[in-house]
Amino acid sequence: MLAQINQHYIGGAWQASAGSNTLILENPVNGEEYLEIILADERLVDQAVAAAKQAQILWGETSTAQRAEYITKIADELEARREQLIDALSLELGCPKWFVTEVQVDDPIDALRKHVRWTLDLTNTDKHDERLEVLKEPIGVSAIITPWNYPLHQLIAKIAPALAAGCTLVVKPSEYTPKTAIILAQAIEASGLPAGVFNLVVGTGADIGDALTTHPDVRCVSFTGSTKVGVHIQQQAAQSVKRVLLELGGKSAFLIDKTNNLQQAVELGVEDVLVNSGQTCVALTRMLVHESQYQQACEIAKQYAESAAISADLSSDALLGPVINRTQFERVLAYIELGQSEGASLLCGGKSTLAEQTKGFFIGPTIFANVDNSMRIAQEEIFGPVLCLIPYQDTEHAIAIANDTPFGLSARVWADDKSKAKDIAKQIEAGQVYINDAMWHNAAPFGGYKQSGNGRELGSQAINEFLESKSVIF
Ligand code: NAD
Repeated sequence: MLAQINQHYIGGAWQASAGSNTLILENPVNGEEYLEIILADERLVDQAVAAAKQAQILWGETSTAQRAEYITKIADELEARREQLIDALSLELGCPKWFVTEVQVDDPIDALRKHVRWTLDLTNTDKHDERLEVLKEPIGVSAIITPWNYPLHQLIAKIAPALAAGCTLVVKPSEYTPKTAIILAQAIEASGLPAGVFNLVVGTGADIGDALTTHPDVRCVSFTGSTKVGVHIQQQAAQSVKRVLLELGGKSAFLIDKTNNLQQAVELGVEDVLVNSGQTCVALTRMLVHESQYQQACEIAKQYAESAAISADLSSDALLGPVINRTQFERVLAYIELGQSEGASLLCGGKSTLAEQTKGFFIGPTIFANVDNSMRIAQEEIFGPVLCLIPYQDTEHAIAIANDTPFGLSARVWADDKSKAKDIAKQIEAGQVYINDAMWHNAAPFGGYKQSGNGRELGSQAINEFLESKSVIF
């Protein structure tokens, strides 16, 4: 019989949903059904918001030292569940365990611990002069809505600053990664966080999204996900003028200046698009290469992609596994077909032979050459292991292409001259710009320009997003 989950954490207790809507999840490596979720309904949302509202009174009064202590305890409890988290995430995402361990588990726990310092550094009163004090107060009950691609990271990047600010929470994780969210809730329960401060409802956007984002007692909605859903949430929340923090999609550029290290740069760029099977919001899916090095870059990219290991054995050291589900599988394959019909050259990739053998959702590392930036494959987020190589004539042209996108989440600049790289970085419209082979930084404020969003996570700035200012004038 299919395993079932019916666990929602509300007011410090686990509750079952009495709703009739269910969702069946398929194992990404073989397409077999492995879990049925009994989804939360609007009644549970109301209960969760009521619990959060009740808990807000006391939680808002706690000191930053107390909040920092709880954050440390939650990190310790997560650490104690590390193996459980690795198994759950690897199963839910179909992601190799080495990547899950480093990036999906250890990294978010490190990010959580970093919030301890930012919480302790928080000053709740800014005395301007004898006549003016500006108080920082928690905005109140916050709805947290997250996607499935880096589920633990995305939950922590919202929950930690919101708790630090003194807000109580109703969390709705992606319905595709319920096990990860439940383990997090169990860790929070074990930390002793007061009942009602953190509440978890597992449901779909269609079933309970609007109930959360329009609820009169919710003051803030922090959302990570697609731009389409983000726009809908902003419209829903606007009716009651809630604060809405959005972390949305991307179509980020990797601008490679004429370089003596083309091999290293291109390989880094291809790997960036392949890990997590390309389901990374900051993936550098447009590689911009000077026309004099373009042909060579295409050859390096093809060779690297063809040699990248893809496997159904998630304990292996393969670079990638399948994409998360059937919908995503079909969507990415449709984009690969679209790219060819738009006139781009498919150098390698498409449906992997593993997909036939296993019935899993495997898509091979896919490289498109001769891509024009106006093509849909260069403008729309594909969210799969698909890279577009685009030639440019000079630096000005490259920057124009990099910015010619509705998104502005991330970018990377590769230049042998570091000061030139920084100069280019300043001209790119994106929330983060990595220079050469720089790696992810858990203290770097994270968020988008343009249609990639409006909020910032990580760093002390993230806590401010959950605070209100009150001017007291004497
Ligand atoms: P999605 O937008 O489909 O869903 C995200 C979350 O929103 C899920 O929990 C979903 O249940 C919920 N949701 C759906 N409809 C809703 C509604 N009407 N009201 C309220 N909630 C609703 O995104 P996804 O497919 O889960 O994730 C992939 C997307 O997320 C990609 O576009 C990716 O770029 C983006 N993303 C952005 C960032 C970032 O930080 N900028 C990070 C990761 C992923």
